[in-house]
Amino acid sequence: MQNDELMIIEKHTENLRKGFHVWPALKYGKIRAMGDARWTADLLLATWEQGETGAPPTHELEYRTGASKGGFDKLDFNFLPESQWLPLDTPFDLSVSLNKRSEGQKIVIPIPFYGGGMSYGSISENIMLSRAMAALKWGTFTSTGEGGYPPSLVPYKEHVITQVATGMFGVREETIQYAPIVEFKYAQGAKPGLGGHLLGDKTTVAVAKMRESVPWVSLFSPFPFHSVYSVEDHKKHIDWINTVNPQALIAVKVSTPIDIDMVAVGSFYANAHILQIDGGYGGTGAAPEIAKKNIAMPIEYAIPKVHRYLTAEGIRNELTIMASGGLRSAYDIAKIIALGADGCVLGTAELVALGCTRCANCERGRGCPFGLTTTDPELQQLVDPEWGAKRISNLYASYVKQLKDILRKLGLKSISELRGRTDFLVYRP
Ligand code: SF4
Repeated sequence: MQNDELMIIEKHTENLRKGFHVWPALKYGKIRAMGDARWTADLLLATWEQGETGAPPTHELEYRTGASKGGFDKLDFNFLPESQWLPLDTPFDLSVSLNKRSEGQKIVIPIPFYGGGMSYGSISENIMLSRAMAALKWGTFTSTGEGGYPPSLVPYKEHVITQVATGMFGVREETIQYAPIVEFKYAQGAKPGLGGHLLGDKTTVAVAKMRESVPWVSLFSPFPFHSVYSVEDHKKHIDWINTVNPQALIAVKVSTPIDIDMVAVGSFYANAHILQIDGGYGGTGAAPEIAKKNIAMPIEYAIPKVHRYLTAEGIRNELTIMASGGLRSAYDIAKIIALGADGCVLGTAELVALGCTRCANCERGRGCPFGLTTTDPELQQLVDPEWGAKRISNLYASYVKQLKDILRKLGLKSISELRGRTDFLVYRP
């Protein structure tokens, strides 16, 4: 075993003694057996460590990329010579406007990312709370996902996006009225065309109540919205939300079909403020492998395609583009912005900071053995929301440090200057 691994195990053994969350893979030292080509053991451990320290690892773990031999893992930054780097005390601006239109409320997040939809039923309520508390701390957002809005999230409502998906689970007037942003989930990059599934084992009494369903019965969100087959239908959906909550910004989450540029332009003309483009690398263990690996267009292709098309149409500066689907590190975030996104939406990285080992057991039985993607009342207690919020906040802090460092080495003072700068990227054969 290498020194860095021993160091981390030592640190976590100390945490275990204090009664903190348990990560058995670390406990037993089988860390090289974890992960896969995208989420390598190094990246899992480094993300866990960033959740603990709030800074990138200082030892040998590779925290910037995975080892997939493609996509983000082959892209790198072509930094300026060191003599041209900006001073360390430069006031870098990482903010992103979520409403680029001239009308409507202005919402600006100080960091170029927010938490993506993970539903009540797919993750535990304590994880939802952890994410909302971290969003409040950083002035950004988290999304409810499609399973309803637990009352415990209401104190954080200024930082919670209400999602409306095809199953309409738990969608109520008041949950739309709470939200500064309402998000329509049309599709998910990990399983486009397949809708959503929550298996009966996880549909506890509490989940069924929130979703206005029957306990222990599998719940399916169909694909697509059967009320939306055109831009005009899409606009009617948005008008419906605006009638219930005239202040709300509208986000639209789509996967990456071959005509994603047409989807983007349609969303703009339907009056969306944010387009979340969800690529094929995302999803928890609940998404079928065959779908994750074979259906959606990789996000590295989809984002430049949309960025270029909207620029040519003259509307790029009126729609916020957020990329999602398997963004694993600050370097992935910076690369997708250089490819044309305004910012990105995080999911799995937050769970990894909380101890996810990518074991793909999310949907089975009682769900996650670490209390993350579970609805089991006993397993949920493994994560204390204060602890979870601290770890997610720490991950954000580490990402912010790295993003500023990347900007510094590119001679840029703001993240918006990086958008679409593919000239800063190089392909490493
Ligand atoms: S079951 Fe838990 S540890 Fe395993 S992939 Fe799902 S969230 Fe991660």
